[in-house]
Amino acid sequence: MIKLKSLLACLLMGLLVVTMGGAVVAKTYVVGTSADFPPFEYVEDGEIVGFDIDLIKAIGELKGLELTFKDISFDSLIPALKAGNLDIVASGMTITAEREKAVDFSVPYYSANQAVIVQEDSAKNLTVLFGAHDLGVQTGTTGDLWVTENLKEKGILTGRVVYYDTFVLVLSDLINGNLDASVLDFPVAKRFTEQKPVKIVAEIITGEDYGIAVKEGNQQLLQLINEGIEELKTSGKMDQLLDKYFQ
Ligand code: GLN
Repeated sequence: MIKLKSLLACLLMGLLVVTMGGAVVAKTYVVGTSADFPPFEYVEDGEIVGFDIDLIKAIGELKGLELTFKDISFDSLIPALKAGNLDIVASGMTITAEREKAVDFSVPYYSANQAVIVQEDSAKNLTVLFGAHDLGVQTGTTGDLWVTENLKEKGILTGRVVYYDTFVLVLSDLINGNLDASVLDFPVAKRFTEQKPVKIVAEIITGEDYGIAVKEGNQQLLQLINEGIEELKTSGKMDQLLDKYFQ
């Protein structure tokens, strides 16, 4: 009995040493997302869920990456990645030349255009983009950039561009009449039309590709993510995920 106890103690000591040496302590990767973007990321029963979340979890499972999630505003994602507060961004983020200068993107995993939405019972149409109308955008998104560069800076839109941290706030101001329209990614606009009293009046063909971002130069992690995406495509799991969120 005593022998067995000391044997156990020895084993335990060994285990502790290994643990303290770091050999068995797995790194937990922090995934940042702006969870106001259904069906890619949103909060349901207090939990962050959605296509991007399932996707990065599936990659994590394939590649042995332990993950934890942080919900922060879209325009804070890249600064947080650069500062080392996040390891991965999975947030329906479009791969753009400007962002490529700051972070590294995975291979594309989804394509989208922009959409113009107005209140469901409004008579407004595409012309809401011209003249004295107020447009709401989520700060730092490609919808924001499109409106600012193509409409506001060219004087085509003479009304206000109103910047919001989250789409939850854009939607509520659109519904209560403080905004005339909003420009955002088409698949998300489409999901909002099913959930809220809003409708799509135009599609803007921007041909955007979404990528998962990592800190610039983190080739090792990027390679695992890219391999994961390819493996999910080949195994049919990617199609299953697409079916789950976009029937
Ligand atoms: N795809 C858009 C972008 O990258 C919007 C993303 C988002 O709002 N989550 O700017």
